[in-house]
Amino acid sequence: MIIVMKKGASKKEIEKVSKHIEKLGYQTHPIVGVERTVIGAVGDQDKERLKALITMAGVESVMPVLQPYKIASRSVKKHDTVVQVGKIKIGGKKNFAVMAGPCAVETKDQTLKIAEKVKAEGAQLLRGGAFKPRTSPYSFQGLEEKGLKILAEARKKTGLKIVTELMSVDHAKMVAKYADVIQIGARNMQNFSLLKVVGELNKPVLLKRGHAATLEELLMSAEYILSRGNYNVILCERGIRTFEKAYRNTLDLNAIPALKQMTHLPVIVDPSHGTGRKDLILPMAKAAIAAGADGLMIEVHTHPEEAYSDGPQSLTPKEFAHLMNEIKPFLQAAGKEII
Ligand code: PEP
Ligand code: MN
Repeated sequence: MIIVMKKGASKKEIEKVSKHIEKLGYQTHPIVGVERTVIGAVGDQDKERLKALITMAGVESVMPVLQPYKIASRSVKKHDTVVQVGKIKIGGKKNFAVMAGPCAVETKDQTLKIAEKVKAEGAQLLRGGAFKPRTSPYSFQGLEEKGLKILAEARKKTGLKIVTELMSVDHAKMVAKYADVIQIGARNMQNFSLLKVVGELNKPVLLKRGHAATLEELLMSAEYILSRGNYNVILCERGIRTFEKAYRNTLDLNAIPALKQMTHLPVIVDPSHGTGRKDLILPMAKAAIAAGADGLMIEVHTHPEEAYSDGPQSLTPKEFAHLMNEIKPFLQAAGKEII
């Protein structure tokens, strides 16, 4: 249920209503809007008792949230969530975020070189996995903490913020120590224990859509994080599995405007994993911006032919520079800016 407070309801009235909701056994999630505050009441108690809140001072209406995802729902919060990472703003009408870097942190030299290159071309965040979810146990699994330390060094040298994947509950504290944004990969989108843990961290989370997940399932996973009090969730469309074999995944561009209707959370697009083909990354990046994306995640490697993982979909710094230039008119048309 949501409790919509009247325009100009006082802080005291909001507090009193929140306390009362909690007394009834619900969790409260205050959503402070430009005009009014809405209080989300989440729980499985009898809804009838909440309806009586209409009699309290400052309450305008008490309404059910029809979607199974509550806090993530656009019906609860009309305006876009803007996730702040240092000075970078992800989400909202005008902001655009670019995260770029290698699939995996391989060596210090490789990571620092790539970081400098992507920074020079205007990326604001450095991506790179220190824990890699690989299909084969014989493939490179990542440098773990050594890799995280390299990422931290790259941040120090370039000022880029770090987005890196967390694969296991056991490593949550360690990854949170180094990362600015914690990535939950496609394979872990429904690892509910992991979602609960990142929901309790005070760090933005980039949640990637599972290979075979519906948008509703993606939003239910986001809800796990939000319902634990971490409201800084960024969604990422990264391609789904279809019958088409001409590319690694099918980038679902429908997801961008559809998610924008369903949720207030920012939506970014990863055309690198979404296509698996470097020749398709630029056109799909343009299409993603045209469809309303709030940002891009792009894999870049100075030597894609030597990459430990995802070489075929990694752009060289020169190709990345070309992409950054080519997307400019699309950003302008969308009224977005990389700040
Ligand atoms: C990645 O971004 O490094 C990655 C493994 O992506 P995904 O989880 O989308 O496959
Ligand atoms: Mn990759």
